[in-house]
Amino acid sequence: MLDKPNKHNGKLIVFSAPSGSGKTTLVRHLLKQDELNLEFSISAASREPRGKEVDGKDYYFLSFQEFKNKIKADEFLEWEEVYRDNFYGTLKAEVERIWAKGKHVIFDIDVSGGLRIKDKFPEKTLAIFVKPPDLNELIRRLKNRGEETEEKISMRVAKAPAELATARSFDVIIVNDNLDKALKEAETIVGDFLKQ
Ligand code: ADP
Ligand code: 5GP
Repeated sequence: MLDKPNKHNGKLIVFSAPSGSGKTTLVRHLLKQDELNLEFSISAASREPRGKEVDGKDYYFLSFQEFKNKIKADEFLEWEEVYRDNFYGTLKAEVERIWAKGKHVIFDIDVSGGLRIKDKFPEKTLAIFVKPPDLNELIRRLKNRGEETEEKISMRVAKAPAELATARSFDVIIVNDNLDKALKEAETIVGDFLKQ
């Protein structure tokens, strides 16, 4: 089904950014706008649940072995080892599930995965890059979020420069400095794309 045009004309909205930029905040806000008719693509992940995360809601939490079996069975639209030994991926069945409900899919995925989806569905996809004002602010937000050790935070920050370098490959860049402004901008950009 993913290779054929779908009868609902479902679209794909990708949000990618360095961790801590605020993409989850933006995506959650858009999901509350009923008129946008969006549903979150729940990714598969091989890491442990964090904080209040729930299996089947935030992620489908899989063991490393389960994840590998699904790669072998060609069940992923895209997957990445985003951090060492932490695999994340979009299951084809997840996109099919959401399109079958007549909804558009919204993704919160890493930059490589986001660009891969754009590559696979160039017309249907709006790929949005969320940029933090600067690296210091990114670190401040990750620390404030208070969900991870210093070591995990450093691992995320270390990836940020390479991720920021991919921003130009996206359709749109939203700078998340003032949150209210970024939320409004996201609403307008996504709303306009879905009307096309
Ligand atoms: P990501 O999903 O990109 O990792 P989050 O949405 O979890 O980022 O945001 C990281 C942290 O920064 C969260 O604690 C969030 O509340 C906060 N945050 C998001 N946007 C802003 C902003 N514009 N100004 C200050 N803090 C923000
Ligand atoms: P976190 O551990 O903070 O939930 O996510 C780590 C990173 O993995 C984030 O950059 C997130 O966007 C990315 N990610 C989540 N799901 C997927 C996915 O399905 N595919 C890819 N490629 N990246 C993902």
